[in-house]
Amino acid sequence: MLSYRHAFHAGNYADVLKHLVQVEILRYLQQKDKPLVYIDTHAGAGLYALDSAAAEKTAEYRDGIGRLQGCDWPALQPYLNVVAQLSERDGQSNLYPGSPAIAQALLRPQDRAQLYELHPSDYALLSELMQRDRRIRVQQSDGFQGLIASLPPAERRGLVLIDPPYEIKSDYDTVVSTLVKAHKRFATGIYALWYPVVERTRIDKLEQALRNSGIPRIQLFELGLMADTDGRGMTSAGMIVINPPWTLKTTLDELLPALAKQLGQGQGVWRSVELAGEA
Ligand code: SAM
Repeated sequence: MLSYRHAFHAGNYADVLKHLVQVEILRYLQQKDKPLVYIDTHAGAGLYALDSAAAEKTAEYRDGIGRLQGCDWPALQPYLNVVAQLSERDGQSNLYPGSPAIAQALLRPQDRAQLYELHPSDYALLSELMQRDRRIRVQQSDGFQGLIASLPPAERRGLVLIDPPYEIKSDYDTVVSTLVKAHKRFATGIYALWYPVVERTRIDKLEQALRNSGIPRIQLFELGLMADTDGRGMTSAGMIVINPPWTLKTTLDELLPALAKQLGQGQGVWRSVELAGEA
């Protein structure tokens, strides 16, 4: 049974990295007028109140978006601007957007989005949030299967975000087999896979599986509040991007050291690694 609720983690350092990468890729794709599709296989509720009981219980956002208020680094502004734009709604303030709300804010009239969310409560919240937007389709079904069934998209260009909770340990294998299948159907798509570093050996295996997959052009970006530990929960989180825009590595290589310092309070760590080059 699904127990993960993103409301406890919204706005943490892992979200900062994930959503920064998401914004950079969507902005890159929108340099051309041609329509794009955004597919979110694990969408969550869409928008989160940082003063909710759930967010305050973990207070994870304080070491994430909470440390970036007023930050003036130019390369971070597109992400911070979207977050600021979505921080108030229907008389509520102190909101933090999930990946679906960020995508919605950036989509143009010619673009569309396909969102999958299995949890009944989060699906209900997400459907309500998106209900008046005809560009966006929300489905309460398995995102891994939904993704494969929807490829290739008519637009032939777009971003796929794969952001599972890894509650089920087989997700570490499923993400690789799903990426291999998806890439066969839609090789030019940009894929962004989120992962947590809880046990480093699992991530070493994930990286090796992707290196061996035959998929070219794979870049990894990782950000952590501290070095790896044995059994103290998530210490770092990463994004693995297939077909990254050429601008992404330049932007992330500038921001990751600064973010590690700012969010990790002197103990932060980061990585930027090419897992596969050109075919
Ligand atoms: N992508 C969201 C964001 O950045 O705002 C956060 C998503 S959260 C990490 C993962 C979500 O996946 C949870 O809301 C969970 O209910 C949902 N989920 C778990 N397994 C799923 C599956 N097989 N298909 C679709 N959604 C799933």
